[in-house]
Amino acid sequence: MSIIRENLQTVEKNIQAACDRAGRQRDSITLIAVSKTKPVSDIREAITCGCRVFGENKVQELREKTAEITEPLHWHMIGHLQVNKVKYLPGMVDLIHSVDNGKLAEEIEKQAAKHDLIMDVLCEVNMAGEDTKFGLSPEDTPGFVKSLSSLPHLRVRGLMTIAPYTEDAETNRPYFKGLRELLHSINATLAQEKQMDILSMGMTGDYMVAIEEGATMIRVGTGIFGERNYAI
Ligand SMILES: *Cc1c(COP(=O)(O)O)cnc(C)c1O
Repeated sequence: MSIIRENLQTVEKNIQAACDRAGRQRDSITLIAVSKTKPVSDIREAITCGCRVFGENKVQELREKTAEITEPLHWHMIGHLQVNKVKYLPGMVDLIHSVDNGKLAEEIEKQAAKHDLIMDVLCEVNMAGEDTKFGLSPEDTPGFVKSLSSLPHLRVRGLMTIAPYTEDAETNRPYFKGLRELLHSINATLAQEKQMDILSMGMTGDYMVAIEEGATMIRVGTGIFGERNYAI
């Protein structure tokens, strides 16, 4: 059995265990296979194992991989996004996880309008207030989400966070719980048709805790494809 297949079996077992602990259904969670820096051959192997949703953090890499792999898959942009790269994304990705400023949102609106489609997005929230991370502060998020409701070609589907790197996933539980509570408190102020339903939280080191706290999308790279080598 390939290492990717083995890893995926382990991840699936862990997802199910977390679902059992939390009294949740497996189908309430989307596993995003984060394939950044990994070759197309690894993605093809993951496809044969049943993966259909892939996450990348660079537009150029997304363009190359989606050009090469033409079967119908769901690609998500999960990384920090520059305004001048937005034009490539409508029609290429299903979801942008990393919207955290008005200029970026307005450019997504403009490009989505050009393609005559509605772009689904998540707002990225920096729950731990780390200087090194992008994202809105939790305090600024409700106002930001509201400000996006004037953009007709953009649909805010939920919130995303990248929790701090840690050896002990439990230390991130408050951030995941906080993101869920933030989503609910914002939803309480939104019209029925604007309700958000996606919580993108949890990576290789902490996805089980994130599931216990309500994640509907988890983004797993290393746990599926192995360590990344940035030197090559
Ligand atoms: C790389 C990356 C991941 C996956 O990280 P792993 O720890 O390898 O699972 C998840 N989310 C984002 C935004 C990333 O950039």
